[in-house]
Amino acid sequence: MIQMMHQMMLSDDSKKVQLNRDKLRCLYLDPFPRPSDRSPSSLRVASVPRKAYVDLVVIGGGPGGYVAAIKAAQLGMKTVCIEKNDTLGGTCLNVGCIPSKALLNNSHYLHMAQHDFANRGIDLPSPPKLNLEKMMEAKNNSVKGLTGGIAALFKANKVKHIQGHGTITGVNQVSVAKKDGSSEVVNARNILIASGSEVTPFPGITIDEKQIVSSTGALSLSQVPKKMVVIGAGVIGLELGSVWQRLGAQVTAIEYLGHVGGMGIDMEVSKLFQRTLTKQGFKFMLKTKVIGATKIGGSIKVDVEGVENGKKESMECDTLLVCVGRRPFTHNLGLQSVGISLDERGRVPVNQRFQTKVGSIYAIGDVIAGPMLAHKAEDEGILAVEGMAGGAVHIDYNCIPSVVYTHPEVAWVGKSEEQLKEEGVAYKIGKFPFVANSRAKTNNDQEGFVKVMADKNTDRLLGVHIIGPNAGEMIAEATLALEYGASAEDVARVCHPHPTLSEAFREANLAAYCGKAINSI
Ligand SMILES: Cc1cc2nc3c(=O)[nH]c(=O)nc-3n(C[C@H](O)[C@H](O)[C@H](O)COP(=O)(O)OP(=O)(O)OC[C@H]3O[C@@H](n4cnc5c(N)ncnc54)[C@H](O)[C@@H]3O)c2cc1C
Repeated sequence: MIQMMHQMMLSDDSKKVQLNRDKLRCLYLDPFPRPSDRSPSSLRVASVPRKAYVDLVVIGGGPGGYVAAIKAAQLGMKTVCIEKNDTLGGTCLNVGCIPSKALLNNSHYLHMAQHDFANRGIDLPSPPKLNLEKMMEAKNNSVKGLTGGIAALFKANKVKHIQGHGTITGVNQVSVAKKDGSSEVVNARNILIASGSEVTPFPGITIDEKQIVSSTGALSLSQVPKKMVVIGAGVIGLELGSVWQRLGAQVTAIEYLGHVGGMGIDMEVSKLFQRTLTKQGFKFMLKTKVIGATKIGGSIKVDVEGVENGKKESMECDTLLVCVGRRPFTHNLGLQSVGISLDERGRVPVNQRFQTKVGSIYAIGDVIAGPMLAHKAEDEGILAVEGMAGGAVHIDYNCIPSVVYTHPEVAWVGKSEEQLKEEGVAYKIGKFPFVANSRAKTNNDQEGFVKVMADKNTDRLLGVHIIGPNAGEMIAEATLALEYGASAEDVARVCHPHPTLSEAFREANLAAYCGKAINSI
């Protein structure tokens, strides 16, 4: 029903999302009572003159918060964004997506220059060497450019940026503690919590960000470790492990689960992924748990135990990377003062409009339930503020893609084969290998395949899983198809440019809908 309403709202002639700014402005001005009218009876709103109110205060300038703030301003709301760090962009731009992808990209170039160029007829006068300092500088420049870009976007959209730690001090009030010791109170009609997440610590192992590092320290090592042990073969562990493995480290990943790639990955993809990374030099210890780590001289002794057989062993490394996940960040947010309790995993509970139990306080991104991904946070941010403005709020979490930016890349959207089996859904599979794709073959980059699953009776696409070159770009087309409820035949009948990797996606759909692809036997 919500989806229908959403579609009705967005189904004007062009089928484009045409949000009428003035209309939305009216909507958001009318249905909401003034702040003092809507406070829970047990809570008192600070009495401030009406003119001192802004429409929205966002706590956190990460991809969830900054995007929401810009959208709110574009919808006509007077918006303030509070960020405690020196730069905007949150985890994603400062110590997450962006620096990791800069290092992945450039370490891949080095790896190609060292191991692949000669096969392509590119002879370098001498073996290419790593200049780690320069590589880090290039990464820092990407981060600087992008975080600075948000500040410029705020200016252009008239979002007021306050640097400091925001604490909720009333259902319509946030107090900001600034670095210079001063404070500022912001009274707002609505508050949006976008405070994100932090690294989950490993019990008994102290992270010093030099020898024993989290993802943050692993983005700035000053030298290439000889031996690196990674705790956790999930997305971040594999990406950062790949970086250092390409730069020369011997990398061993220890994983509690029986597969690599984290939750949601299709097992067929995971198996090929593990084989490919093993060929590249990775070592894996699956179904193994780390039980302790001790610094001895310049190295670290890591003790592990088999999950099933209880077998204990130890290994040495010079850098230990702890990558066991992230947890919501709500430190000193003042939630208790307004009666908001966290759920069992420390997340802020929200309803389908991203509203907490306090009507004027919303939350989005890593701090609420759902996958901890930048694009998920952004989408929620946009929807939350559109909802405040009276718009429909609908998000299909099944249509949020996941990408691992290793080489080859791994990407998926929708259900895995294991999930479909568990749910008892009748499905059919279409697969197409990159070895049969002309562009992959031309580029001599042909490891992997596209696997699509469609409903056996209706042909509607249910899940797409890609391991191969540029999988992360290609998954956007699959996401669009899933979001629009396309069938495998719909995709197979769309003309795709030749020669491109995307033809492999089309061919997999062809195989799913009529049983046979054209370019494979
Ligand atoms: C190494 C690494 C690689 C990653 N790669 C990817 C990727 O490739 N793709 C992807 O989609 N995701 C990736 N992620 C995850 C992604 O970074 C997060 O999902 C995303 O940043 C969440 O956005 P957010 O806005 O919810 O929170 P955050 O980005 O964590 O931003 C929250 C912000 O709020 C600020 N804040 C918190 N509390 C307060 C307060 N009280 N007052 C003021 N400010 C406050 C914080 O300082 C922070 O800047 C990666 C993460 C890591 C660690």
